[in-house]
Amino acid sequence: MNKKTLQDLSNIEGKVVLTRVDFNVPIKEGVITDTNRISAALPTIQYLLDKKSKVVLFTHLGRIDSEKSKDSKSVKIIAQKLVELSGWKVKFISETRGKKLEEAISNMKNSTIIMVENTRFEDVVNGKIVKNESKNNSKLGKYWASLGDVFVNDAFGTAHRSHASNVGIASNIKESSIGFLIEKEIKFLHNTISNPKRPFVVLLGGAKVSDKINVIEKLVKKADKVIIGTAMCYTFHLAMKKNIGNSLAEPNSVNLAKKLMKKYGDKLIITKDSNCSPTFADVKGEIHDEVPNGMIGMDAGPKTIKLVKKELKGAKTVVWNGPFGVSEFDNFKYATQTIAKTIAKLKGATTIIGGGDSAAAVISMGLSDKFSHVSTGGGASMEFLEGKVLPGIDVIQEK
Ligand code: AMP
Repeated sequence: MNKKTLQDLSNIEGKVVLTRVDFNVPIKEGVITDTNRISAALPTIQYLLDKKSKVVLFTHLGRIDSEKSKDSKSVKIIAQKLVELSGWKVKFISETRGKKLEEAISNMKNSTIIMVENTRFEDVVNGKIVKNESKNNSKLGKYWASLGDVFVNDAFGTAHRSHASNVGIASNIKESSIGFLIEKEIKFLHNTISNPKRPFVVLLGGAKVSDKINVIEKLVKKADKVIIGTAMCYTFHLAMKKNIGNSLAEPNSVNLAKKLMKKYGDKLIITKDSNCSPTFADVKGEIHDEVPNGMIGMDAGPKTIKLVKKELKGAKTVVWNGPFGVSEFDNFKYATQTIAKTIAKLKGATTIIGGGDSAAAVISMGLSDKFSHVSTGGGASMEFLEGKVLPGIDVIQEK
């Protein structure tokens, strides 16, 4: 991959740089609960301001499937948070197209910032679901591209999607580059996987085997050990004819799980015991080797944690994606937190968290700086690790 980076752009002084960021932050009751994605894009914006360009920020927030859903999905609150975090002035435009936006851009001074309303507002027009943004409507991409001179993609979290605000703009503009964040993501994910220091241990947890099956196959070939955590392990437990009670599993993937275990033998390590609960609720659980009937496996148990610690001892490269339990619940976050602490203490190892809930756990524990890299994109990092082409990066001009 030899994509143009910010430093490869020609003189951007006075130019309008359309910048796709991923500010799709979690919001609870009107309050942003994690600002990591905003902070992660600051270096790119700072660079563009230092080069005296005019920065127009595009981001999506959540999914838009009706006019009503727009009420709680304005990115105005994100523009305010950006001001708070950076101290810059940010002009928020409550439109995704039209005269107000066009005039605001044409009146911009060098080194100033405009933030455009949620790009996914374009998915519903006059109450009709049209998915102009999410299905990369060609007119929309062209229109947005016409508002600027240069496109910078720094939204790693959506780079695996072909949307109007990334692929659409990039295909219709003279010059494009990736931002610092995507550059860093590529560097860590690509370099680490292509040339890992060994032992190389991969931990894969989270809900769905079917989402991660390709990545298991890809990584098990490169890694020394791949550890499968909850809830994915229950599909493997079914394949081993273990009792799983009412735990989350995918019976359709059982054959695949069998094949993987046969093919990769003891390279593939499956969670042993579970902390179980009678309901999917944040209650005190019980430890069992096999989940009893009527119960749900909610967290990895102590035998599993011991095994994971043993495998992680001396590891020189660790890639982790997906929590090892329902880490959103206080009673079932133990395994995920213990694993996070264990990885954080590894000496001289390259440690990468591939986004999503496991990254959220690490961030909330204040351990992010103990990891070599916390990826901002769950789905995107998984697809990247699978070796798939990410359209949002692929579309960017070569050096
Ligand atoms: P993923 O997006 O595939 O990484 O999955 C993350 C989700 O998996 C989180 O919301 C976790 O709560 C969920 N999860 C992890 N372990 C379990 C489990 N044992 N049962 C149900 N959900 C789980």
